[in-house]
Amino acid sequence: MDVYGLLGNPVGHSLSPPMHEAAYDALGTDARYVTFEPAPDDLGAAIEGAQALGIAGLNVTIPFKENALAHVEPDDLAARIGAVNTVDFAGDGRPRGYNTDATGVRRAFAHHDVTLAGRDAVVVGAGGAARAAAFALADASASVHVANRTVSRAEALADDIEGATGESERATAGGLETLETRVPDADLLVNATSVGMEEDRSPVPADALHGDLAVLDAVYRPLETRLLREARERGATTVDGAWMLLYQGVEAFERWTGRDAPVDAMNEALRARL
Ligand code: NAP
Repeated sequence: MDVYGLLGNPVGHSLSPPMHEAAYDALGTDARYVTFEPAPDDLGAAIEGAQALGIAGLNVTIPFKENALAHVEPDDLAARIGAVNTVDFAGDGRPRGYNTDATGVRRAFAHHDVTLAGRDAVVVGAGGAARAAAFALADASASVHVANRTVSRAEALADDIEGATGESERATAGGLETLETRVPDADLLVNATSVGMEEDRSPVPADALHGDLAVLDAVYRPLETRLLREARERGATTVDGAWMLLYQGVEAFERWTGRDAPVDAMNEALRARL
């Protein structure tokens, strides 16, 4: 039996176990997905221990995504983002680390037939989810404006994107007040702050939203956040956070197993719990 797992703290309410176990059931795979809550100082030992025990793959979530980078061989995207959420133990030597939150953003938009190349994107936030979204969009040849409450973090993210693409003008930054002027001209909008999680608040002024936007909210509790509701009311294409969550899991499953993930079964298991 293959064992996969999730390292985080807390992980009690994680939707990853039912989502991955639905995939094993759909494909008739003999595998289990279990959760672990190591102490913050024990992250390296936990990853080494998992490898020693023959665990096939790990997801990593809050608060370990950034620190996990030091304990794996990250691919180029994870290294640029500065965070790892998927660890693969296949092969000998150091485990490999990926950031499938970024691919989750790209594939969530693709699922809704939203084109990224050449589009103007606004990312709200500058934490882990925002870094993943911003690099996913920039790598897909969108230009990115980062708006964050703490402006210095937005500037640091925009600088990192420009450094990575080697193109100035591909990324700009500002405070949340820049949303009022940047969103009306944007094609794509991603909320990657926690604003709207289990509360009826939006980080984006409703008047800035419009019908030519595609809006992804990383928040998935509730599924339709205030931002998505106000965007839908103005005719925008809306993509809820469960699509991002689904596709980060799909990408992890495919990296670990080398098989196409049973996306519908995983989606059904996820949405049944939201
Ligand atoms: P994080 O690293 O802690 O970043 C939090 C971000 O939210 C920062 O930009 C922070 O701004 C901003 N923020 C927090 N409270 C705010 C407020 N009251 N007003 C304005 N901005 C505020 O967290 P994260 O890991 O990036 O996660 C962000 C959200 O994305 C969470 O809701 C998380 O559940 C969700 N997420 C979803 C998925 C998915 O698959 N759907 C994946 C990852 C994360 P400052 O920099 O100013 O503090």
